[in-house]
Amino acid sequence: MKDKNVNRRDFIRLSATAGAGALLIPNTASAATVQPATRKTAESIPVRALGKTGLQIPILSMGVMRADNPNIVRAAYDAGITHFDTAHGYQNGRNEEMLGNFFKDKPRDSFTIATKGKFDYPLKDTFEKDFTALLELSLKRLQMDFVEIFYTHALDRTEHVTDKRIIDLLLKFKAEGKVKNIGFSTHASKPALIDAAIEAGIYDVILLSYNFKLNNLKEMEDAIARGVKAGIGFVAMKTMTGGAEDAEGKNRINGQACLKWAWKNENITMAIPGFTNFDLFDDCMAAVRNPQLTTKDREYLAMLCGKELLYCQQCGKCTDECAEHLPIPDLMRAYMYAYGYKNASLSKETLLSLNMADDACKKCEKCKVSCISGFNVPEKIASITPVRSIPDVFLT
Ligand code: SF4
Ligand code: SF4
Repeated sequence: MKDKNVNRRDFIRLSATAGAGALLIPNTASAATVQPATRKTAESIPVRALGKTGLQIPILSMGVMRADNPNIVRAAYDAGITHFDTAHGYQNGRNEEMLGNFFKDKPRDSFTIATKGKFDYPLKDTFEKDFTALLELSLKRLQMDFVEIFYTHALDRTEHVTDKRIIDLLLKFKAEGKVKNIGFSTHASKPALIDAAIEAGIYDVILLSYNFKLNNLKEMEDAIARGVKAGIGFVAMKTMTGGAEDAEGKNRINGQACLKWAWKNENITMAIPGFTNFDLFDDCMAAVRNPQLTTKDREYLAMLCGKELLYCQQCGKCTDECAEHLPIPDLMRAYMYAYGYKNASLSKETLLSLNMADDACKKCEKCKVSCISGFNVPEKIASITPVRSIPDVFLT
């Protein structure tokens, strides 16, 4: 494991994000972009505009992906969180169903929903029919006529963003009123994806990985700023870099510091941490009540900058280097789900979608991969692939 001391460069890097103003952020972020939440029963959570969508959304929203307890959704809603992020594939559809059952008797203008749909690329002849059926099934599970945001899920190539067939279908969904805004989600930190979205000119929102560990932070923040200028709203995920402050997943990360760091960039409308229990929810609420990043927070995050952690940058460099062209970024994500999120079911689901041989690494005498995050890739692959064979009944 890499383990450097906190150094001045890391401290400055964390302090300098989003320009000099970041050092001076007030308690509730920028007065220009943040106004009090309007729901009367709710705690006052600052809200920000989401690009040109016309939506004003609390800076703390809920990534529902791993939550299976509607009481957590209720606690979030009652506290003034109004945006809930799910996907067609989460928990094999049960995640959307849970939200549908929870929101069926709530005023439709008291919350906003984002869901996502995945497609295979290159597109099949039946793409339009299949993807339309996917969205309709999502709406049926959600018991809604429309969603505020529909993302194409987990894109990592510019041709996914600019493909005419995808664009035409997304615009059709929007014209039919089934989706109010369209976007894509991406785990890959690639400024080129944002620039492709700007050029395509049809995207309202981008959901992306955004955290203090990004090794191309400056390039990403510049691209996000260009996107904001073009009217795109940005939503941050993976703000907690895998949820653990060590590569073994032993100690929980200080999520409050991570969230506060993300919010200090005013170009990020909201973060969608995936709180799955009341302790994590309380932590997120404590952060949003006092979102100012302190010197202590900065020192803590700077210390983490020198550690390996569980967060894979999803840069894809290793895929070309690997003798077997293994889907290493996906494997590293599966590793993070198991060791960081402690969610072996999600890890297994991710692994099974990869169609990999059991002994892929055994064919190599010496690994050719050199990871930019310092991961021992074959060791991580060896420790995560057995999760595929664990019977569901034993999984978290
Ligand atoms: S494993 Fe390393 S090289 Fe590969 S995508 Fe992740 S950070 Fe990049
Ligand atoms: S040891 Fe595994 S990760 Fe490394 S090059 Fe071989 S197949 Fe790829």
